[in-house]
Amino acid sequence: MQKSYILPFPITYAMAATILDGKALAREIRDNLRKQVKSLTEKPGLAVITVGNDPASQLYVGGKEKAGIGAGYHFVWKKYKEDTDEITLLSEIDKLNQDKKIHGMIVQSPLPKHLSPFLIIDAIRQEKDADGFHPLNLANLFLGRDAILPATPKGIMRILEHYNIPLAGKHAVVIGRSKIVGKPIAFLLLQKDATVTMCHSMTADLAALTRQADIIVAAVGKAWLVKKDMVKQGAVVIDVGMNKKGDKIIGDVAYDEVKEVASAITPVPGGVGPMTIAMLLENTLKCMEVQ
Ligand code: NAP
Repeated sequence: MQKSYILPFPITYAMAATILDGKALAREIRDNLRKQVKSLTEKPGLAVITVGNDPASQLYVGGKEKAGIGAGYHFVWKKYKEDTDEITLLSEIDKLNQDKKIHGMIVQSPLPKHLSPFLIIDAIRQEKDADGFHPLNLANLFLGRDAILPATPKGIMRILEHYNIPLAGKHAVVIGRSKIVGKPIAFLLLQKDATVTMCHSMTADLAALTRQADIIVAAVGKAWLVKKDMVKQGAVVIDVGMNKKGDKIIGDVAYDEVKEVASAITPVPGGVGPMTIAMLLENTLKCMEVQ
């Protein structure tokens, strides 16, 4: 006689999450940029200013230098001491603004406390603002006009586009409201017809909001803040966070557990980070075209 089995109901099949491979996509973008640059008579020039010896900044700028030189860019790294005054820095920015070989520049944050980031960013010529942090570039982004976009949000949008993730009508929850990630990504998602909720440190019940999200963007700087029970089955999760844990970098999302419920997720490292650098190089080329 045949045995009969009682199957559990409902039967759920866990689908493996798609890993949104920013590292591979960034490599492809850099390869394309290298080909484009080869065909130009002049190299795109990118200058990076650092003030002080913040170890993370040294690491990030090192990555930008390697990627820039690798793609055939003219790369200049201006290193200033921690106690550099505003006048010195502003006069360096002025020189770079005039320098015909430099098409884009960035001032790496964080800056020492005695320097006003607003004053310094405002001094960069709008057309040379490769980070897209100048108030006029941010205003253009806000207005939905063609703009030099901040590199990290631009990189996130490129990942979503590359993996054909639908945005129109979807509920996106952005955690973090910084001017370099949270606010600009919220506007870019809005431009693509997502319904956007922005969360921050004073949000009353973060988990109640993230559980409703089709797309979560975590840009907080708190290791593994987003847990599995905060994520709806099938959500797309973008982890911007870069938090140091021992000698490792980990994200704002508890990757191992969240990937069990997400339909797609960016790893850290290898997700948003490499895209930020690729977008910075793309922005520099755009700056060159604008000039
Ligand atoms: P930020 O300027 O420090 O902003 C952090 C945001 O998180 C703030 O808006 C803050 O709210 C919010 N927040 C803090 N604790 C929270 C909590 N418990 N719940 C909800 N929101 C909370 O940071 P950021 O510059 O945007 O960077 C965020 C993270 O992304 C960092 O780890 C940074 O290293 C990383 N990052 C990575 C890349 C990349 O290329 N991968 C690029 C840029 C930044 P309040 O406004 O209320 O204080």
